[in-house]
Amino acid sequence: MAVAALPLTPTTAQALPDQLPANRPKLKVIVTGGHPGDPEYGCGGTIARLSDLGYEIVVLYLNKGEWTDKPSYDPAPVRVAEAAKACEILKARPAFAGQIDGKAIVDQDHYDQFHRLIETEQPDVLLTQWPVDNHPDHRAVSNLTYEAWKRMGKKCALYFYEVSNGEDTVQFAPTDYVDITAVIPRKRSACYAHASQSPDKFYSLQELVARMRGFESGHQQAEGYIHHVQSPVFALP
Ligand SMILES: [Zn+2]
Repeated sequence: MAVAALPLTPTTAQALPDQLPANRPKLKVIVTGGHPGDPEYGCGGTIARLSDLGYEIVVLYLNKGEWTDKPSYDPAPVRVAEAAKACEILKARPAFAGQIDGKAIVDQDHYDQFHRLIETEQPDVLLTQWPVDNHPDHRAVSNLTYEAWKRMGKKCALYFYEVSNGEDTVQFAPTDYVDITAVIPRKRSACYAHASQSPDKFYSLQELVARMRGFESGHQQAEGYIHHVQSPVFALP
């Protein structure tokens, strides 16, 4: 196994240009998450920074946040609209894998389906949830993403992110940090776009995490990532 920098990708954050050259194809980043909101809370600042730098960002949600224990009220349209608004704020494109909230399935058929979704997009970088997590949908999306990455020959960069630490993510020790200080208001707006999901509670928790990662890395706020040791290195901003 060789660790190599992505083609056309600088190997240090300092070398990353403010904008991609006009004649250069946009690098594509896919951020996968269990539910609408997970990618925004875990890496909304990074998504904002990457989209500002000219990267194409797809946010792929495993499900639409249906409440299966309340069949009389299906919130999926509300949560899909919230996800669309959040992605608009972050300049990303939302996509949905079609699974059901709280009933994630990881089997051969779903590995195949998720692999096809990812492969069609031909990403240069994958960001997904850290698999040690108390929510089965988060573990599922991490596992499905991992398998798709493996089936594609481990050629794109793979990084794990954290969300709602303690409640969801546990035992997360970042290898990489992204300074999100300049884009805090946009991350906050994207998180608060999920108005039906107690943003006051979840944003304050995630802000504590971002401040802690900021202390660790020397910034006001930062987002932490774990680089998969067998994946190419991507110059996170
Ligand atoms: Zn979630």
